[in-house]
Amino acid sequence: MVSLLRFQTTLLTNGRATLSFTFKSTILNWKPLIPLNHSLFRFERKQLSSLSSSNMAQLINEAKAKDLIENVDTFLFDCDGVLWDGHGMIEGSLETLLKLKELGKKVFYVTNNSSKSRQHYLDRCKQLGFPAEKEEIVCTAYIAAAYLKKIQFEGTVYLIGKPDSLGEELSQVGIKYVGTGPDPVEGVVEDWLKMSVNPEVKCVLVGFDPHISYMKIMKAATYLKNPNCLYLATNEDANLPAKGDVIVPGTGCMVVTVTHAAKRSPEIMGKPEAHMFEVLQQAHGLDPSRCLMVGDSLTTDMKFAKNCGMRSLLVLSGIATLEELNSKDAPSTPELYAPRLDELLKYI
Ligand SMILES: [Mg+2]
Repeated sequence: MVSLLRFQTTLLTNGRATLSFTFKSTILNWKPLIPLNHSLFRFERKQLSSLSSSNMAQLINEAKAKDLIENVDTFLFDCDGVLWDGHGMIEGSLETLLKLKELGKKVFYVTNNSSKSRQHYLDRCKQLGFPAEKEEIVCTAYIAAAYLKKIQFEGTVYLIGKPDSLGEELSQVGIKYVGTGPDPVEGVVEDWLKMSVNPEVKCVLVGFDPHISYMKIMKAATYLKNPNCLYLATNEDANLPAKGDVIVPGTGCMVVTVTHAAKRSPEIMGKPEAHMFEVLQQAHGLDPSRCLMVGDSLTTDMKFAKNCGMRSLLVLSGIATLEELNSKDAPSTPELYAPRLDELLKYI
């Protein structure tokens, strides 16, 4: 199968973006015409600093890196766009993480992706060589299950999500669920009005579900008509990280449809809300002022850091761009930023 890869870069002169170009190639057997370590692809530190002068984000440098090593005990990493992407490992991320471990830092993997369980992420980490234990991985499927367990939820969950991620995490805490798998539209309005509902359902949980359908939206909204039915959503990300020409809709698209039909707003489990940090804080006694959140999204990762009182480092190897960071409409302002995670490794 041939996939298309769009590769974009921006040349910077006098602190301004002056030129950008796009080319396409097949991923298979793809070879860049210009070596990726060519100066065309390097970020000029001085120029980037100039670009960021309109907000408080600072490009990481030796002094700031040493300050992090001295004053941060715990590093929380978003995964997609920071450690790896759709093509595999992001260069230098493994070496940086291993160095932090060597320096005695605690490391956690914190991801909004609700299409995978902790076990999936553990397998992915091990496949790529990242040192990880299950308790170091926090994903929204796990957090949703932990939340329901914490509030001593009794009843059945109507789940818009995958059985091998959200379903697996719910089962591990002994919570029953219904609704997964294909549910194509059947009948006409007259038939739908006679639809029976499961009286045991006391919660609607929306996560990533490639089988989202009209029937599922109708059932979720019908359950939510009962004000005592809980409404939880894993996250509101608009897209899954994917480089190339295809846009892959994320969980947020599914949440929006149910929210609109039900006229109710969900409790969000993932970033930027604080639930994920609270679970880690409770289990590991973390001091947020000595934690650094490293992520590639201004709307989730960097807002999450701010909401939890953590320090923050934005990397430009994923979703966020320098233009977005420097926009007056930027959704949040990180403390620090770097082209890639391994910029930190240069100084430690
Ligand atoms: Mg990410």
